[in-house]
Amino acid sequence: MYKGIGGSSGYGIGKIVIIKNDMPVYEIKSPENKENEIKRFLQAVDKFIEKTTKMAEHMRKTAGEKNAEIIEGHIIMLSDPFMQDEIKDKINSGMCAEEAVDKVCEQFIEMFTMTDDELTVQRAADIKDIRLRLLKILTGDRDIDISEVPKGSIIVAKDLTPSMTAGIVKENVEGIITQAGGFTSHSAILARALEIPGVFSVDDITDNARDGMEAVIDGKEGCVILNPSKEEITEYTAKKEKYLKDKEELNKYRNKATKTADSIEIELFGNIGKPEDAKNVKDNDGEGIGLFRTEFLFMENTQIPSEEEQFEAYKKTAVMMDGKEVIIRTLDVGGDKNIPYLGMEKEDNPFLGFRAVRYCLDRKEMYKIQLRALIRASVFGKIKIMIPLVTCVNELREVKVLVEDIKADLDRENIPYDKNISVGVMIETPAASEIADLLAKEADFFSIGTNDLTQYTMAVDRGNSKVAYLYSVYNPAVIRSIKRIISAAANENIIAGMCGEAAADPLLTPLLISFGLKEFSVNASSILRTRAQIAKWTKAEADKVADEVMKCATQEEVYEILKRYQR
Ligand code: PEP
Ligand code: MG
Repeated sequence: MYKGIGGSSGYGIGKIVIIKNDMPVYEIKSPENKENEIKRFLQAVDKFIEKTTKMAEHMRKTAGEKNAEIIEGHIIMLSDPFMQDEIKDKINSGMCAEEAVDKVCEQFIEMFTMTDDELTVQRAADIKDIRLRLLKILTGDRDIDISEVPKGSIIVAKDLTPSMTAGIVKENVEGIITQAGGFTSHSAILARALEIPGVFSVDDITDNARDGMEAVIDGKEGCVILNPSKEEITEYTAKKEKYLKDKEELNKYRNKATKTADSIEIELFGNIGKPEDAKNVKDNDGEGIGLFRTEFLFMENTQIPSEEEQFEAYKKTAVMMDGKEVIIRTLDVGGDKNIPYLGMEKEDNPFLGFRAVRYCLDRKEMYKIQLRALIRASVFGKIKIMIPLVTCVNELREVKVLVEDIKADLDRENIPYDKNISVGVMIETPAASEIADLLAKEADFFSIGTNDLTQYTMAVDRGNSKVAYLYSVYNPAVIRSIKRIISAAANENIIAGMCGEAAADPLLTPLLISFGLKEFSVNASSILRTRAQIAKWTKAEADKVADEVMKCATQEEVYEILKRYQR
């Protein structure tokens, strides 16, 4: 059995088809006529744009807007005058078009690979894709077309570039396995969009798999079995059938209100990183957006996005959600995310450092641009402002002063906005949890960020595998903290929601119902499953589970009880 990262759930049983995407070989030579060589390069760019536009159109129909935009992003990257000028300069210095493209792309790949930030590293994958396809056009090599693989195929590749996957026919592909790429790689994103099981980062799979070999893949656990035995095929066929049946069951919860078995109404929202993701939330029947991580807008840019750019992004989301609630978190950068142009200094303890609201309150001019864009966009829907990493009441007060200043400016300028726009806080630090009663008096709502709350409560770096055994929301310390936060909100009659990963954990559903959580915000793909879970419990039944859990002394005991009651 081979292990990798389970990046797209589901089970596939089929025959391997190996997809090779080796770089074309070209001859290094100096062009006789540099102008003609530049022309040849520009013709290749035109051809690239023509082909890519067609691919994106096809993809829009098969894999949705988001994936089409990834492909269209390649046109934007290649059209960048800076990149083109660099290539032309290299041709002028005596390189042939192939070598110039190769060298310049390599520079960009190196630059993007140097950061720790996964999304920037992803840009490197995009440039690799552009280089490969541009070189194929220049050398006359044929493009790979996955659309021709037969029914029942399990695709194996070193990495699948967005352009290679553009033509995928979902019905013919049982699974995708790649040697490179993680959960957020394009291959994984696409596999999820197409609902094809996928396992990524499987070491040496291209050496060990052979064309035509039988294989089984488990996209949830991240397992691949080559040449499975009869028993294994029977076992996985049963798993696949159950998985598909459960998925079908979930569809029953489409267009239904979210409520407990005894009809307590609960709001069920989705988390997003980009305006376009809102469509995914809507498609999955989300009732609003509980967390818009705006740092992605900043990470995609090479400079601070202007007020207009931000306004358009927030407005687009509000309009897309059509009057449903959209909770937008102001810039939360630092810790695990890096935005080079902000020039933040490297810190010994970035998770405890100058980040999120601390950074924003120090750079008020930048922060006011974001707040103003948010408040202006509020007239197009139901936007709420959410402050990350709050640790003291002063931070909330300072943001509220800025919000009031901006409102006064907008009044003077006769610019409309929602006069009642709410300002809430993320409760994701032990400090905020300790003073939840005080914060609840001044905040309009709470949203519990369990990812950070667990990290800070347990004093465990959420990315450090050595201490990962302690990073568990089931720890009594974290459970008590969550209970206290929800009670503090209820005492002041404000809503307590949860946008950390724990909101989507089916084991925790009864506990959260019992504590009185009013809003769950989860990844789009978890919305229906969470609605189904909520519907399984009455308050009294959930209270019984909570009573037992609150008596536990260890995370293992908590887990044991939750598992025992799991429905
Ligand atoms: C959290 O900390 O739970 C959260 C939702 O925010 P992020 O994961 O972006 O830090
Ligand atoms: Mg957080």
